[in-house]
Formats: sequence, C-alpha cells, structure tokens
Amino acid sequence: MTQRTDILIVGGGLVGASLALALDAAGRSATLLEAAPARTNQAAGGDDNDRNLVLARASVNALKALQVWPHLDAAAGTIRRVEVSRAGEFGKLRMTAADAGVDALGRVVPGSVLGTALQRQLAACRRIERLAPAKLLALAPMESSWHARVAMAGEERNIEARLVVGADGSDSLVRAQLGIGAQEHDYGQSLFVCTVECGRDIPDCAFERFTDEGPVALLPLPNQRRGLVLTVSADRHDEVAGMDDAAFIALAQQRFGWKLGKLSRPGKRFVHRIRRVLAGAVIAPRAVLVGNAAQAVHPIGAQGFNLGLRDALTLAELIAGADDPGTANLLNEYASRRQPDRDGVLAFSHGLIALGCLPQPALAPLRSLAMLALGGIPPLRHAVARRGMGFRGEPPTAALDAGP
Ligand SMILES: Cc1cc2nc3c(=O)[nH]c(=O)nc-3n(C[C@H](O)[C@H](O)[C@H](O)COP(=O)(O)OP(=O)(O)OC[C@H]3O[C@@H](n4cnc5c(N)ncnc54)[C@H](O)[C@@H]3O)c2cc1C
Repeated sequence: MTQRTDILIVGGGLVGASLALALDAAGRSATLLEAAPARTNQAAGGDDNDRNLVLARASVNALKALQVWPHLDAAAGTIRRVEVSRAGEFGKLRMTAADAGVDALGRVVPGSVLGTALQRQLAACRRIERLAPAKLLALAPMESSWHARVAMAGEERNIEARLVVGADGSDSLVRAQLGIGAQEHDYGQSLFVCTVECGRDIPDCAFERFTDEGPVALLPLPNQRRGLVLTVSADRHDEVAGMDDAAFIALAQQRFGWKLGKLSRPGKRFVHRIRRVLAGAVIAPRAVLVGNAAQAVHPIGAQGFNLGLRDALTLAELIAGADDPGTANLLNEYASRRQPDRDGVLAFSHGLIALGCLPQPALAPLRSLAMLALGGIPPLRHAVARRGMGFRGEPPTAALDAGP
C-alpha cells in the first residue's frame, strides 16, 4: 500500500524539525522521516558537555515565533559583544549590541537542548506525522510527485509526496537520489569542543581568536561557564584527542591567551573533522535541499544552523499560501530568494578561515588593517553586525525583529 502526503521531509535534525514546525504553524501538513530514534526526554538545561551553538538574533526571533524559545531561555548564554583578534597582530574587530541598536546580538545554546526543545514542540503539532526511526532508502520520480521507499520497524513502506525536502545532512541521500552533485573541501582541521570555567569574567562577550593553527573561540554560557571551540590541524588530531584534561587545557590556554584568566574544569570533549560540502543546486523538480544537505560550512563562523533555519522558514513561508507545494515557480522563487544569503554566508565562512588562519607573514598588515577598518568605521561595522545577526538578503518574516 502506498501512503500519500503533500510534503515529505527527509531528516528530522535541527533544520528538518524546524521546517516541520514552521509548516505546522502555517497550517500545512507534512510527513517527517528521521533515521534516529525519537528523543524528547533529555533534562532541560543540557548536560554542559555539548556542542554549543551560537544563534544569531534572526534565529532567536524565529525560535520565539515557533514557540520553541521558552524551552531554551534558561539554558542560553547572551552575546552582547563580539571580539575578533589575531594572535600576534594589532587590530581587533569589536561589535556591540549597543552599536547595532539591539539588546543582544545573539544567544548561545547547547545543541542537545535545542534538539530536545524542537522535538517537544513537534510532539504538540497536529499536522505533522513523525516517523522515527524511519530511513529513506530510495526515491523514484512519478509524473507529478516522488515515490519514496522507506525502511521502518523491519518493513518497507512506500510514500508518495508532491514535494520532497532533503534535510538529511551533509551526506544527503536525497541529494544523491536527485542526481545533484556536491563540491567538497577538506579544511584539514579538527574541532574540539567542550565547556570550561574562566578565572575572569567578561560578561556576555564572545571571543574569537585566530592563530596560524586555526581559530579558537570562547562563548558565553550561564553559570560562569563558557563554550570552548578549539581548532587544530588534522595532523595533530590524534595527539590532541589523546591528551588528558590538564594537557588539553594548557593547549587551549596557550592558544587563547589570558584575556579571560585561567581556564579550568573542562567538560567532556567532542571532536569534529571539518569539511565544506556544497550542493551544486538546491532545487530539482518537486524537490528541494535545506540545511547541511544544501551547504555545510566551517563551524567557526557559527552560521550553519542559522543559515539552515532561514532555508526552512523561507520554504515554509512560500508554501504557506500555495495550493501545490512543489511547483517549479515556487521552487525557483525559493532558490532565488535564498541565493544572496547562501552566497554571502559561504563567502564569509570560507573567507574568514582563509584570511584568519593563513600563516603567511605578508598577510599580517593587511589583516590588521582590515580589522582596524571594520572596527573603526561605524557604518561598515554596523553592516557586518547586521549580517552576523542573520539579516542578509530577504530574510523570512519570522526572523525579523518585532516592530516598535
Ligand atoms: C562543532 C560544531 C559547532 C557548530 N556551531 C554552530 C553554531 O555556533 N551556529 C550555527 O548556526 N551552526 C553551528 N554548527 C553547524 C550546525 O550544527 C549544523 O549546520 C546543523 O546542525 C545542521 O542541521 P541539519 O538538520 O541540516 O543536518 P543534521 O544535523 O546532519 O541532520 C540531518 C538528519 O537527517 C537524518 N537522516 C540522514 N539520512 C537519513 C535518511 N536516509 N532517512 C531519514 N533520516 C536521515 C539524520 O539522522 C539527522 O538527524 C556547528 C557544527 C559543528 C560540527
């Protein structure tokens, strides 16, 4: 028997779950497939050993509109100031919420807390059918729909959908099944993340420091803790992964410096190999890619989920008023609305690493001048801050600041 649905979302990660919530809020029904078992019962507040996500102001606005924010607020740090510097060079870029005319530039939440909050909110949605664990096996085109073969509870199911959304991450099967290629770039870096305590508190300030070996960031969290993100070159991966806490924290201290005093009490470490994956196209007939399936960017720019959430909200906004969610017109409009944001974020994230991390001494004065220029010219600084807050191109309505 074949089940029919209007919209099939493949992947219930952070972006797929956000899309399902946005569709439900827009009065549209959808089926959400997730390969991993459902998890909704994690204690609110997280376990302090998690990847910490910087949520741009636009994302916080959107999560408020989707009623997810109340589950996150208590676990979230606040960013009112960002300081970007380069080890051994003059010039610093400082951005403040006050300069940008807002109360906060963004917030920081543990990824697992965000995931749990999205799942809780999803459980209350009447128009979303959640199938988990359920794995997409293959897609076949029909005349005006897709036929999906799905493995669930030891059986195969058939689902026919007028629109298929690939929200299935950087190794997207949907992307492969649609015949869309992807460009990959290995940064040759590993990212170690954990939480730490700092001897000195500079409240509500996020620090990012570039070094020859890669960037290091410290993000504000509640209860005097900070999220540490430490990049090391791939050839040091095994050495750093094998370090005990004392050796690891000494490395972090040497890379970050003493601006926040002595670093101590590291939580459990998680490690990620970093690559950029860029889909050759974000749409195909009656299909669309969102989030990491469309583009996975270097995490140090803190843009991946923020960008994916704007993908999801824009798609939901376009589908809201459409009879048929998969027409070529709708999908073309989606692709053209998302392009400036996508191009801008890709250029920013890649450029940040290229300019910030290349060790060539010849680049040092240029970098320092760029930082000074950005930091010293208010309209430029303001423009950078607006983009950093997620207001680029034509943002979805739910992401905009509420009017006076
Ligand atoms: C260390 C680190 C720090 C980061 N920091 C930030 C940050 O500060 N700010 C920010 O915005 N972003 C950040 N990011 C990026 C962000 O985490 C990702 O962009 C985001 O999680 C991508 O979500 P997604 O839902 O698109 O993909 P995923 O999280 O990969 O989810 C894909 C889902 O699809 C499911 N799936 C896959 N295949 C199938 C299938 N065949 N059938 C059914 N389901 C399937 C998977 O189980 C998974 O749940 C960071 C990333 C890392 C690694």
